[in-house]
Amino acid sequence: MTGIDDLPIRDELRGKSPYGAPQLDVPVRLNTNENPYPLPEPLVARIAERVAEAARHLNRYPDRDAVELRTELAKYLTRTTGHEVTMGHVWAANGSNEVLQQLLQTFGGPGRSAMGFEPSYSMHALISRGTGTGWISGPRRADFTIDVDAAEAAIAEHRPEVVFICSPNNPTGTAVDEETVLRLYEAAQAARPSLVVVDEAYGEFSHRPSLLPLIEGRPNLVVSRTMSKAFGAAGLRLGYLAAHPAVVDAVQLVRLPYHLSAVTQATALAALEHTDTLLGYVEQLKAERDRIVTELRAMGCEVTDSDANFLQFGRFDDSHAAWRAILDHGVLVRDNGVPGWLRVTAGTPEENDAFLDAVRAIRKENN
Ligand code: PMP
Repeated sequence: MTGIDDLPIRDELRGKSPYGAPQLDVPVRLNTNENPYPLPEPLVARIAERVAEAARHLNRYPDRDAVELRTELAKYLTRTTGHEVTMGHVWAANGSNEVLQQLLQTFGGPGRSAMGFEPSYSMHALISRGTGTGWISGPRRADFTIDVDAAEAAIAEHRPEVVFICSPNNPTGTAVDEETVLRLYEAAQAARPSLVVVDEAYGEFSHRPSLLPLIEGRPNLVVSRTMSKAFGAAGLRLGYLAAHPAVVDAVQLVRLPYHLSAVTQATALAALEHTDTLLGYVEQLKAERDRIVTELRAMGCEVTDSDANFLQFGRFDDSHAAWRAILDHGVLVRDNGVPGWLRVTAGTPEENDAFLDAVRAIRKENN
């Protein structure tokens, strides 16, 4: 049987596994940081309307520069962060994964390297590898915050061309403060200068304000965002970034022509018309997240402070066995391979109760 490694693939891909959270058919799925609320019916109807309109023009290529969508995203960012950005500061692609890939194609690549502070979002390393960019794993403290002195030293030593700061961080839920970003940005500028990417996929769920205002006067700082989480539209595939307009010009060098379909643009524009309703769900999810943290701690679990729509809990002598035991109670959580810890996404109140009951049950079984 011919396998991948029998094919003439690139050496750095040999023996590697693709990204893959298990997609199991389980009653309660709290493993991929999705929003549990389906889009509200009036929004579904508006999507149908806008997509029908787009369908009338599908014989033509879509707006290559997605001007209307970027204008509306800029308005959303300005309204929710208090920092004024325009269409020229915003770029959009198929999920923030594609935004990150375009950034690495532009600023990374063969002979260059990217650094992230791990454990963090595994795709930062995987997209680096896929774009031929070297990967350097930077340090975190035992409590999963970034040790700024150690991080500055790592940047000075390795001089990566791209530095990822994930805030709130996946899988730990840890938010990063402004001071940390500013110090790491300065260290990255002193070392090269390099591009600093703040991945704010979960920004709307944070107790802290967005780090987006920091792009002002810092042309090498990028903030990436997504409609997959707060907008409850993971199936849409729409991510975006805000940065100095020169960064937006630079990623045009690598983006495929017409990468964002007319259907995607129409759907995203419809969702942006319903921002207030969707942000209402975000508030409910934040409250549920905080409730899960409180209840898990009351049971005696350790929980890492969370600013995301998920949280990291433990500690388990064998986290994979704990993952399996929770699954046996009908609840799918995520084992990100962080020894001792598991991650759960905040779902509906009923799903969260099912999860809390499952943890209570496995703690009882083990005592
Ligand atoms: N960044 C982080 C930190 C994430 O956790 C995710 C999704 N799990 C993404 C980016 C990518 O999301 P999407 O491509 O759906 O926008």
